[in-house]
Amino acid sequence: MRIFDPHIHMTSRTTDDYAAMAAAGVRAVVEPAFWLGQPRTSAGSFTDYFDALIGWEPFRAGQFGIRHYATIALNPKEANDPRCREVLDLVPRYLDKDGVVAVGEIGYDAMTPAEDEVFAAQLALALAHGLPALVHTPHRDKVTGTRRSLAVVAESGLDPAAVVIDHLNEVTVGLVRDTGCWLGFSIYPDTKMSPERMVAILREYGTERMLVNSAADWGRSDPLLTLRTGEAMLAAGFDSDEVDRVLWRNPVEFYGQSQRLDLDSVAEQATYAGNSIMRGGA
Ligand SMILES: [Zn+2]
Repeated sequence: MRIFDPHIHMTSRTTDDYAAMAAAGVRAVVEPAFWLGQPRTSAGSFTDYFDALIGWEPFRAGQFGIRHYATIALNPKEANDPRCREVLDLVPRYLDKDGVVAVGEIGYDAMTPAEDEVFAAQLALALAHGLPALVHTPHRDKVTGTRRSLAVVAESGLDPAAVVIDHLNEVTVGLVRDTGCWLGFSIYPDTKMSPERMVAILREYGTERMLVNSAADWGRSDPLLTLRTGEAMLAAGFDSDEVDRVLWRNPVEFYGQSQRLDLDSVAEQATYAGNSIMRGGA
């Protein structure tokens, strides 16, 4: 199984996680810029963080044969802090970097006027830079947040095919399915979305424009839940081509819109590793 995790915060993970992911078939990841837990008090700490996302993390990942890409943005939560507003002036510089494949995570946390403003401004940046956008939906009041996000995306002028609406669940998937946007699902160990619930959604809505990620943020999370979802798909009767579509070809197609993916060398390793995993049962 070759796996591209389209949304995983490796900054919050250990080297052992990289090793386990590589052994599980993970060959590429996208790490979205997000909230670091401790509030940042100046734009300068964003510069250092963004530099780590395009420098240090790709180096860490590369030691395990994993290709690492990033998405860059001012996250929705810190959009509310006036001290962080000048980050919007830093973002365009990063959107020109080779390792940056989308604008994100953007969207809503508490749906404040400040978030409205920052969300719309960053969708405009995606449009101007010819990049896709990764839209986070809020954990509280998710239905309202998803509806409102879709309305803002529709107003932005971005092609819906260049937008993923992420952290969806059974309640919100139907709101997005017919909009032309991509559908993102974060799988967690014991809350929100599980591999089995994900398989039920894939049965009902199909595999087209579906992206499955392990998020791996500050809450309890597991960077191998992409693999577990693939296994649950196989156990439920999906074939290996459908698993490959969801776990590899879909993220390649979505982030490939940036024209910045270069996966030839890792895709070969993926085939090789997939074979050895099958032989060794690892
Ligand atoms: Zn995230």
